[in-house]
Amino acid sequence: MSIDLKNLTINKAHEDLLAKRYTVLALTEAYLENIKIKNPSIHAYLEVFGDIAEQAKIAQNLIDEGKASLLTGIPFAIKDNILISGKIASASSKMLEKYHATYDATVIKKLKNAGAIFLGRTNMDEFAMGGSTEKSAFGTTHNPHDLERVPGGTSGGSAATVIADMALVALGSDTGGSIRQPSAFCGTVGLKPTYGAVSRYGLISAVSSFDQIGPIAKTVTDVEVVFNTIRGLDSHDSTTFPSETYSDKKDFSDKNVKKPIIGIPRKFLQLGGIDARVKDNFAEVEERFKKLGYTIMDIDLPNNQFALPVYYILNFAEVSSNLARFDGVKYGLHVDGKNSIDDYFATRAEGFGKEARRRILLGTYVLSSGYYDAYYNKANALRKVITKDFTDAFAQVDVVLTPTTPTPAFKIDEKSDDPLSMYLADIFTVTANLTGMPAISIPSGFAVEEGGVSLPLGIQMTATHGREELLFGLGKDFLGEK
Ligand code: GLN
Repeated sequence: MSIDLKNLTINKAHEDLLAKRYTVLALTEAYLENIKIKNPSIHAYLEVFGDIAEQAKIAQNLIDEGKASLLTGIPFAIKDNILISGKIASASSKMLEKYHATYDATVIKKLKNAGAIFLGRTNMDEFAMGGSTEKSAFGTTHNPHDLERVPGGTSGGSAATVIADMALVALGSDTGGSIRQPSAFCGTVGLKPTYGAVSRYGLISAVSSFDQIGPIAKTVTDVEVVFNTIRGLDSHDSTTFPSETYSDKKDFSDKNVKKPIIGIPRKFLQLGGIDARVKDNFAEVEERFKKLGYTIMDIDLPNNQFALPVYYILNFAEVSSNLARFDGVKYGLHVDGKNSIDDYFATRAEGFGKEARRRILLGTYVLSSGYYDAYYNKANALRKVITKDFTDAFAQVDVVLTPTTPTPAFKIDEKSDDPLSMYLADIFTVTANLTGMPAISIPSGFAVEEGGVSLPLGIQMTATHGREELLFGLGKDFLGEK
């Protein structure tokens, strides 16, 4: 039988697999067929794994023995900065082009135990720095809605695989918006979990105090299922906390359940640089929430205009120290120079792309003596102020609503030589990483381009720490998911 991949969800695939409407192998082959057709023009996968038939066999056995869980046999795409034992994990950098992971990331271990299938690893901006998946050392990923446009980044490969039906769900990582922005650009749902909800063990570090792994899928329910599987305390990551902290899921379409209050930072949304179609779409979204019976309140986030500079100063600082490990000695690329100090320079000059080098330089500068107080310490102090603004807002409202991005997907090369305008695209997303709060991007409609191409738009909802269930409940109600 032919499988309708477009409308497939985790629950539907699970039901079909249990009812033996098709086998795990047939399901993976349907995806592989699609990958063969679409990946050459989209370039979302850097590698499709060679052991999928074996993985499918293991999953099929679990099903046949009655030991299946929801994710058994579910085909995943994995971002190239998450370690799968024995497979290459390059973070789309020449530095790690030939690096084979020696262990499984905790999220991978959990998915393997559930019987999930890993189809391949997806393209990203090098070391998760960027916003377009153009900064990969291994080519640009194209947006499936319009091949001349970027899919967003840095998890652009992951979002593109999901919307082009080259995987049912994907894992991405989010340091300043890298799950949510590509989700908005590609029309998927993407969650940046609460900091510490999901283990970072086996994630190639970019900015350790911001990074979180999270799911990308076509529905909120699928995102929720994956999140519930990968979250939890992990002795390998001391910043994690136990799943029991979470409260039960909520069905806000049920008249007997009290609906959360939605806050809108109105002044912040009046900043320049927001596309008129994004504004119109946001106004429609607000109306839709009102019709669904939600109370909307204006809130003030008075220091949000500092979020981008604060984010980038801290990002550069942590990146410069995290990337110091790539020295051509321990692992990864090694280039011979005239002597051992020269080996180091030669390796880093050859191994890092332009954006990585820019951030290492700026990060070293903001951390250097004499500037540390002026930049790094000041940014850290403001990070606390911004977090307090959010905490204060959450005393009045349950969820903060904004667009996910100020514009729809931009053209390939449009911003690639203008780092500042690329950074500005993160205006709405970075606060969730500064505060450690969970945020989700949900498809909210389309912007029509001249020539008639429709480009997806997304809205972002942020809740306070550990309240992902509010985001899922609201998201499902908004999209009419049961
Ligand atoms: N665009 C942001 C940056 O370049 C976010 C990247 C990310 O979330 N990994 O830092």
